[in-house]
Amino acid sequence: MPEFTLISSNSNTILYLNTHNESGIRLISELFTGNPDSTTIPSKLTASTEFKGRLHLLDIMGEFSYKPKQFFNLIPDNQFFLFLPDHIDDIITIEQYRKELSRINGTSIKHSDWDDIMVSLSHHYEVRMFNGNSRQKIGVFEKNKRICRFCGKSLPYVSFSQKAHAISESLGNKGLICLEECDECNKHFNETIEQDICNLLHFQLMLKGVKGKKGNPTILGDGISMKNDTSSRSSTGRDTIVINVKELPDSHDLQKTIKSLSKKYSFVLEKYTPQNIYKCLCKYVLSLIDSRYLSFFKDTIKWINEPLTKRRLPPVWYYSIPTGDVPTLTIMIRKHNHKEIPYCWAILSVAGDQFLFIVPFCSLDKYKFTGKNRVKYFSDGLSYFMPYIKLKPIRLSGVTPKNIKIDFNLKIPPECVEGRDFYILQQGF
Ligand SMILES: [Zn+2]
Repeated sequence: MPEFTLISSNSNTILYLNTHNESGIRLISELFTGNPDSTTIPSKLTASTEFKGRLHLLDIMGEFSYKPKQFFNLIPDNQFFLFLPDHIDDIITIEQYRKELSRINGTSIKHSDWDDIMVSLSHHYEVRMFNGNSRQKIGVFEKNKRICRFCGKSLPYVSFSQKAHAISESLGNKGLICLEECDECNKHFNETIEQDICNLLHFQLMLKGVKGKKGNPTILGDGISMKNDTSSRSSTGRDTIVINVKELPDSHDLQKTIKSLSKKYSFVLEKYTPQNIYKCLCKYVLSLIDSRYLSFFKDTIKWINEPLTKRRLPPVWYYSIPTGDVPTLTIMIRKHNHKEIPYCWAILSVAGDQFLFIVPFCSLDKYKFTGKNRVKYFSDGLSYFMPYIKLKPIRLSGVTPKNIKIDFNLKIPPECVEGRDFYILQQGF
């Protein structure tokens, strides 16, 4: 199936076009050259008024025409954009094309620390970033050609009728779907390892207003419940945290009410098993990478599927930087054969929390990255790539369920105004 990548210098999005048939190819030729019979399309194209006038040709795609039209309409008139064969998803390659485009368009591109990190990373790794907001289906489209990535079975021994989210839906992923995960494996992961990561992040997800399958989560504590009502976001630009307490003093004295509310509350959340979190992180990577890499991760898949067993695993590095409420997974795949560094590692970013982890048991790795020196070598490298980020190593190899207790101090500072910053509502029972 011919596939093309379109890159513009002004937008952060990339457009992918693919076509299954002759008429699709003719449509693409006519759109970009004005002639449906044209057999070559130059890679450097101009967003001329003439070109934009032909965008109505896309109407034939129905609701799917919205995205490409928006992409082209956002390119300022007469600027260049690129039309490239194949599906290009390596973000470093894309960044290089974008820089080149900015140069020929005479526009400037914002330079950030991220660029520096990318340049030094690019010597060693291909980097792909997956965003939970972008609609992307990973794997073979035809059901009868699919092989489940996790159990190796295909039709008719397993079915593929459920939507398998490549990153759990409860973490806020709406768009990334793995086509190559059978219904059995999907159900199994939903009920096991994915629960652990959701339990671990339950409180942060609630605070960020991340909506999962069942809407906004509510956290229940001792005599208190908390929920993020995001409906105020569109009008006021901020969320509303709704806190329900069982007992409020029967008083019209605001200060007295505030004083009685201001105390420590505790939330005891559902337990999580550390190693299940590590397995789940790796499962996300294996759901998203191109299938050509899967054969190197046979032992990783075996480990994900095995019952909980004590294992020596590399540490996972945790850090916290403010992010949006959409989960992203950035996957690094080693370009060269120097086995001092791991073949594959990744960063899951969710609700302001970042987990950086090595995908273990890869057949292209010489080391396990569990010994002190190997771990230090890798983490020194990370500090070089990310000099401003404080990485905290955590151990996620444990097999005993752990409790999560969150102590929460409710305080309403004196500068907060009732009716503007907070409301107190008495509810009859
Ligand atoms: Zn399966």
